[in-house]
This record gives sequence, C-alpha cells and structure tokens, in this order.
Amino acid sequence: MYIPGKSKVPVGVKLHKLSSNESPIGPSPHAVTAISEATSKMEDYPDGSSTRLREAIADVHGLNADHIICGNGSDEILGLLANTYLSSGDEAIFTEHGFLVYRIATLAAGATPVVVKEDDCKADVDAILAAVTPNTKLVFLANPNNPTGTYLPIEEIRRLHAGLTSHVVLVIDAAYAEYVRRNDYESGIEMVSGNLNVIMTRTFSKIYGLAALRIGWAYGPRHMIDALNRVRGPFNVNAAAIAAGSAAMKDKKHLELSIVHNDEWLVKVTDALQALGLKVTPSVGNFVLVHFLEIEGKTAADANVFLTQRGFVLRAVTGYGFPNALRMTIGSEEANLGTLSALKEFLS
Ligand code: PMP
Repeated sequence: MYIPGKSKVPVGVKLHKLSSNESPIGPSPHAVTAISEATSKMEDYPDGSSTRLREAIADVHGLNADHIICGNGSDEILGLLANTYLSSGDEAIFTEHGFLVYRIATLAAGATPVVVKEDDCKADVDAILAAVTPNTKLVFLANPNNPTGTYLPIEEIRRLHAGLTSHVVLVIDAAYAEYVRRNDYESGIEMVSGNLNVIMTRTFSKIYGLAALRIGWAYGPRHMIDALNRVRGPFNVNAAAIAAGSAAMKDKKHLELSIVHNDEWLVKVTDALQALGLKVTPSVGNFVLVHFLEIEGKTAADANVFLTQRGFVLRAVTGYGFPNALRMTIGSEEANLGTLSALKEFLS
C-alpha cells in the first residue's frame, strides 16, 4: 500500500507540510477561477476525452493532442500502463529507490517486479539492461526520480532505449520535469516522438499546484494511447480538473514564478543542510534527500519526531530503502527557514 506524506502535528502548532512534494506557490489564479466556472454545471458528466485539456497541453508543448491521454493523476496512468501491458508471468523493471507506485501497479497487474541496483542513488542503465529477460514488458523510470532527486541525461536514456528490444515499453515518468535546470536533460518528448515503445507521463500535482484535483497526462505513440483509452474508465478526469488543468497549462507566468522560487530555495536549502554537516543527494527536483548521522539520538527517525513536534513534517523514506534519511520538499521561505533552524537545534 502507498502511504502518503504525513500532515499531522501537535494541536496548536502551525503545520508546514514538506512531505508530499506539493507546491508552496499553489495553483495559477486562472485555474482557481476556472474551477468555480466548472461548478455551475455539476449535474453533467465531464467530457470523457478531456479534449480541452489535451488540446491545451498539446498547444503549449507543441504536440499532437491525439497522442495524449489524461488521467486521474499520473498514478492512474501508471496503473493503466501496468494493466494494459502486464499480466501473470510478465516482468516490470524499476530501480531500487524508484517511485513506489511502480511496484504497486506491477503487483496489482499480477506481474513480477524486478528491482535493480542503483549507482550512488542514480539509475544505472547497464544494471537495468542486464535485468531484461524475454518476460520483460515494461521498464519504469522516473526522471528525475523521487525520492532521490537524481536524473539521467538524455544520452543515457537514449542508450537505455537502444538496449531494449521493441517488445519492451519504456515508461519515462517525468513528474518533476519542469523543475530541472540542466542542459543535458530532456523530459522524454523527443524519445516518444521518435519511437513506438516509449511513453512519457506528467503531472499537474507538483509545479502546477493542483495535486488535490488529480490530473496527470501521458504522451505516447498512437497505438499505446489507443490501448490505454480502451482500458481507462469512461470519465476518468472530472470537469473541475479539466477546466483548471487547461487554465493552469496556459499560465506561463505562474509556472515561471514556481520555477524561480524552486531554483532559489533548492540551492539555499541544499547548502544550508550541508553546512549543518548532513549529506544531501544532489537534486534537480523540488525536494532533497537528507541523510542523517548514525549516532544515537541524531538519526532520521529522531529528527522526524523533533521536527514534527515543531510543525515541520518531512517524509520518512524507509520504504524507499533509506532507513536513515528524510525527504524534504522545497517549501515556502518560512517553512524552509523554520525547518533549517529546527534541524540546527536538533543537531546541536
Ligand atoms: N511519479 C512520481 C515520480 C511522483 O513522485 C509522483 C507523486 N508522488 C507521481 C508520479 C504521481 O503523481 P500524481 O498521481 O499526483 O500525478
């Protein structure tokens, strides 16, 4: 079972939720207005094809709307991929610190998860390729990955794809793509456009600040989008989500605001944590993986209790193979500074 980020602190203490990689900036005001318009027609079913939303995405990203599917969060699309391409006896590959939904979706489809080692918290293309068997049907790769925040350059993704036979589908989960500021990164659009066995998933839950509405999308070859459309529920994206997502996608100014905030605070938070003597995995997303000391009273579990008591809720990542680390989402200035100052006190 997927356990969401905690959001409970002691009564009377102000909550700063830094446990689910949500946006401290929130959604575009245009998205909020669009939702209230959508609520005037709640007796009607939504457009089962999410046409407006697909067209807004296609327009902004320069894609063909027929190659896009929308879902109730990208989680739904990951599940649809598993249900469409996996059955008993099939194998799906993902990496040891990969996003937990890959395991859940694979098991729910009755298939076998194949977990491969990472190289210093980074996906290892050679290890993934070495794990491929005639039963492999899917490779799930989050780029950047949650909770490590590391990424693979496009050249590595190309090398991974080149090593896969055409019966294996490469799923590039680019939930955090908008945050990445690296010249050698590409979200996956180019890979999808040039190949018949690559699909990219995206979300409105992170930089677009619309996690509550559950909006995800995928861009893939026509045959895959057709297959997923046959498997999905007929009205899988609700009317408020379609309206808000379309408006949010077009609000480039708001997106820029969120990017600028993250660029500034990702560096400040990373530097400050390192200055406290903690190891931080270099991240290109909107969160950092913080490794704690193996000293009694100073472990991640101890820090988690200490921070939660003061209202700063981070994410325990034991389930991701990091028993002595916490994942901290880049939050508001107040939340970031508050967490850093509480950690300083904790470590002193
Ligand atoms: N992929 C990754 C790597 C994520 O971290 C998340 C959110 N935790 C998702 C997919 C799912 O996002 P959503 O279902 O909200 O679109």
